[in-house]
Amino acid sequence: MLDLYSEYIYMKEEIDAAIQKCLKHQQWILGPEVNELEEKISQYLGVKHCIGVSSGTDALILSLRALAIKFKGQEYFNKADCLITTPFSFVATGDTIIRSGATPIFVDIDPKTYNIDPENIEMYLLNHRSSITEIVGIVIVNLYGLPCNMNKIMYIAKEYNLFVIEDCAQSFGAKWNGKYTGTFGDAGCFSFFPSKNLGGFGDGGMISTDDNEIAEIVRMLIKHGGKDKYNVEHIGYNARLDTIQAAVLLAKFKYFEEFTERRRSIAEIYNKELSSINELILPYYNFPSSIMNCYHVYNQYTIRLRNNKRDKLQQYLKNKGINTMVYYPVPLHRMKLFEGRCKLSGVLKNAEEACKSVLSLPIEPLMRDYEIEYVIDGIKDFFKKR
Ligand SMILES: *Cc1c(COP(=O)(O)O)cnc(C)c1O
Repeated sequence: MLDLYSEYIYMKEEIDAAIQKCLKHQQWILGPEVNELEEKISQYLGVKHCIGVSSGTDALILSLRALAIKFKGQEYFNKADCLITTPFSFVATGDTIIRSGATPIFVDIDPKTYNIDPENIEMYLLNHRSSITEIVGIVIVNLYGLPCNMNKIMYIAKEYNLFVIEDCAQSFGAKWNGKYTGTFGDAGCFSFFPSKNLGGFGDGGMISTDDNEIAEIVRMLIKHGGKDKYNVEHIGYNARLDTIQAAVLLAKFKYFEEFTERRRSIAEIYNKELSSINELILPYYNFPSSIMNCYHVYNQYTIRLRNNKRDKLQQYLKNKGINTMVYYPVPLHRMKLFEGRCKLSGVLKNAEEACKSVLSLPIEPLMRDYEIEYVIDGIKDFFKKR
């Protein structure tokens, strides 16, 4: 799916130099590179604050905890505090809600975009007017790098006085209506896990926010909950971004635009070449014409198969040496972890269907054209034979 070694070789000089610099200054904890990366990314996104953290998962839990502290004056949410989110995501989107003390409410996705469907959020809120005081926020995910309809999400959030957390683990660099994901809600949560669009050499993450208070609380929480070691106010974590990861990320960031463009042009080739296959549903890319400048960053290029052929195609491609992945085979509400710890807005049919039919194709920025062609030919052959 990805060729991280080739990516390293492609930028070897910059990365080696960045690491060498760390070896010289030896400031492994909150060294100068962390600050530099935070500044660079907050400028890039156009937000007031960016705070480096230890992972995307920690970005989510830290943001949620900061909101509980800010809005409730409590360390954690209560179980009665509910957060609306998507069942079709990585487990961390849901489990961090539980870890923050709150209860996730899973609301079904839009089958075209795979993102949480704003209409379903609104429907749920309308049907639960009496319990609305208990619904405190929404956690959206820009799945595969496709931004959610943030106009609608933010409109609903304002209407019902809900906070919004954006899980942007897969959408660094994606835009909705000319604005980067992670800049709409109360906090944006990014991951630098190696397979993300900007990936480090280990775990890492970032929180973006325009809210001074949230930024200040997060900065305390990442180092044990206090402004300094002997002045601790909150139940904190050790959740800092490593200096060496920041150094690697700074070096890789120089190539970020180039790599994102390449992902998008690979997606265009797939779109063009695969559009003639009736049994495939290609990723959504026809944004409403009223919405300007939307930008899908294709952390995954995910197709969908009609007629239960997903597993057969995956096996067929595997035999040809092509690796594909299923993100995600199980919706969150089917995991034992969430049993008795979540609410469902209904049967969540679209998420269930997606789990059975989606398949993510290789999309590596350094893929050669002949490699893309090989994947396309493999898929075409599969359908010819049936
Ligand atoms: C990767 C990912 C996370 C978690 O990020 P880590 O850095 O691995 O902790 C959370 N949400 C989504 C949607 C992700 O893809």
